[in-house]
This record gives sequence, C-alpha cells and structure tokens, in this order.
Amino acid sequence: MRFDIVTIFPAMIEQPLAAGILGRAIERRVLDVRVHDLRDFTTDRHRVVDDMPYGGGPGMVLKPEPLFRALDAIEADAGRPRAVVLTSPQGVRFTQDEARRLSGLPHVVLLCGRYEGVDERVRARVTDEISIGDYVLSGGELPALVVLDAVARLVPGVVGDERSVVEDSFSRGLLDFPQYTRPAELTAAGLAEPAAGRVPEVLLSGNHAAIRRWRKREALSRTLDRRPDLLAGAELDAEEREILRELERLRSERGA
Ligand code: SAH
Repeated sequence: MRFDIVTIFPAMIEQPLAAGILGRAIERRVLDVRVHDLRDFTTDRHRVVDDMPYGGGPGMVLKPEPLFRALDAIEADAGRPRAVVLTSPQGVRFTQDEARRLSGLPHVVLLCGRYEGVDERVRARVTDEISIGDYVLSGGELPALVVLDAVARLVPGVVGDERSVVEDSFSRGLLDFPQYTRPAELTAAGLAEPAAGRVPEVLLSGNHAAIRRWRKREALSRTLDRRPDLLAGAELDAEEREILRELERLRSERGA
C-alpha cells in the first residue's frame, strides 16, 4: 500500500516511521511511504507556504497553490489517489472502521495542515476530512501518523501475526481482554493485596476452552464497564451473547 504525506515538517513524519512495525514494513516494502516537503512546491525565492487570512484575524493560512502542485506531482507519479485525506479538527471522527476502509485502498494521500488550517479551496481536491479527536493540535503531522499507523497495521503482512489484529480492541466492537506474561506470581511492592500479584488461575490451566471463555467474559465485562456504547454495534457469537446476558443479569442483581 502506498501513502503520500504532504507536510512542512517532513522530519516529524520520517523519524517516527523509522522505528517499530511500520519501519520494518517499509523496509520489507509492504508499505511505500513518501513524505513530501510542501516548500518544494513553492515557486518564490523564500519558499513561502502561508499567508494572512482574508478578512483579517490572527494567525496564518496555508496557501492553496503549493498544496495543489504537491497533489499534481503525486498524481503524475502514481495516478489519481483513491483517497486524499485532509487532517482537520472539523473532519469526521477517525475510528477503527474508518481505518479498515482506508486499508482496503491501494493509495492514500494525507495532507497536514498548520497554523489556522488550509485555504478552504483545497477542499475541492480532498475526498475525506478526518479528525483524530475533539481537541486541537498545532499541526496535522501527529494526526497523519495516527491515521497511517492505524491503517497500515490492518494491511496484510504489516503486523507479524494477523490474529493479533483480529483480536484487538474495536475490531469486533469489543475491548480486548486483559493480558499477562511471566512471572505467574508477582511479589513486587505496590500491590494492594497478594491476590493482585497472581495471574488468573485459568490462564495457567492449559484448558483452552476454559481460557477462550474466560477471555470472552473479560472482554465483554470490560466493554460493559467502560464502553457500553460499543455493545450496540458489536458482532457477538452465541456464546458471547449468553455471557453478556449473564453479566447483565449479575449487574442488575447487584444494582437492585
Ligand atoms: N483553526 C483550525 C485549527 C487549525 S489546527 C480549526 O479550528 O479548525 C492546525 C492543523 O492541525 C489543522 O489544519 C489540522 O491539519 C491539524 N489538526 C489539529 N487538530 C486536529 C485534529 N483533532 N484532528 C486532525 N487534525 C488536526
């Protein structure tokens, strides 16, 4: 899958991409990520990318022409991209479903805003406007990395073991179950009670059916506690529906 990212701070994108799963996927050429410096698409001696807003007011606005030229160059090189994403706090809230949709495309362009944002006319060439949450950042670089990371790990071959992606939080509308690793008994200070230092017995039992059921129960219980809103859209199997009914019954008894 190919990504083109347009930014005035290429280093903010390139450095994080060198490490971890994404770095390896780029090395193995499963991902092709091109970072473009918006200043390379200016025509003036000072390589100016911003200008004052018409109508006055504080801050600067990213000029439209360099962004258009950057898009033209990407199109000339790779054909018209299936998605041109503008990062913006005014966009549609980014979710795992949105990440999944984008991961099915061969080529995605991400535009990073700065200052007060981009000239409104740029939106004519944008297919998707995405916000990563209801807060304002100083630039689109972190949002572009968030989108890139979430999308890329859904591309086959990027994450080593595909099963881990399938079981992640949100992938079926549930939060993930709790994870433990060695040691089985933790005597470290700071634990409220000794029992809190022990890995749940069932995980050590070797009984795979019991482990599977325990994990389903924990995932459902967590989702019910922390994000009950997710359950409406969750894809549950018969066993999970049964466990959920039981959890809800227990809760209403406790509440009553
Ligand atoms: N004045 C603008 C905010 C500009 S913030 C407004 O109120 O809409 C500068 C840039 O940071 C934006 O152009 C966008 O690219 C990026 N950005 C800031 N917050 C973001 C968010 N929550 N999601 C995605 N991009 C964001």
